[in-house]
Amino acid sequence: MVVAIDGPSGSGKSSTARGVALALGYAYLDTGAMYRAVATEFLVQGVAPGDADAIARITRDADLRISTDPADQWVRINGRDVTTRIREPEVSAVVSAVATNPACRAELVRRQQGIIATAAPGIVAEGRDITTVVAPDAAVRLLLVADPQARVARRAAELGDGVSADDVTDQVIRRDRDDSRLVEFQKPAPGVDLLDSTYLSLDEVVADIVARVRAVV
Ligand code: C5P
Repeated sequence: MVVAIDGPSGSGKSSTARGVALALGYAYLDTGAMYRAVATEFLVQGVAPGDADAIARITRDADLRISTDPADQWVRINGRDVTTRIREPEVSAVVSAVATNPACRAELVRRQQGIIATAAPGIVAEGRDITTVVAPDAAVRLLLVADPQARVARRAAELGDGVSADDVTDQVIRRDRDDSRLVEFQKPAPGVDLLDSTYLSLDEVVADIVARVRAVV
């Protein structure tokens, strides 16, 4: 059973997907964490964001491990635990260099499909291209959206006091603009249901999706 959830930054898709996985006893895959982990690695190796060939090579060679336990999330690349590092603004600022690199996308999509294929009894995978590229045959396919003001406010709450308003806006608005150059995640693809969370609590969104899953299993 595969539940595919896409959405822009701050749409609440990570908390939602994790909540759905916990409620159903499913695995959870945060695909954005994989793009972020590769970004930390090219920074460590001193590679420039514009060096597409080097970033593609780093992606292909990476020993990338990610937890699919919704209650215990971690990610490691080439032996380094980058669970906390991947959330830092410095990483968010350069992750598009991985996401807009077609060779990196092909490699990460292949790895994500491998993880999804072996998950039991089900998995909730979230990102930007899960409903369209990674798992287009998923039983439940959703695009989670929210108004920009709601998304900026949620990301600000997540990041806490130490982060400036400019950083938060950069992480939400600028990143969506960059990301949407390669993948369409603002409009639902055919067969994908739109779920607007602007005026819903996290529990309400989780309950809505759990009901959709129960209706098809
Ligand atoms: O979801 P999150 O904000 O952690 O994703 C980090 C970045 O990874 C996004 O800004 C986007 O550039 C990229 N991404 C992607 N495709 C996915 C998941 C994330 O391009 N499936």
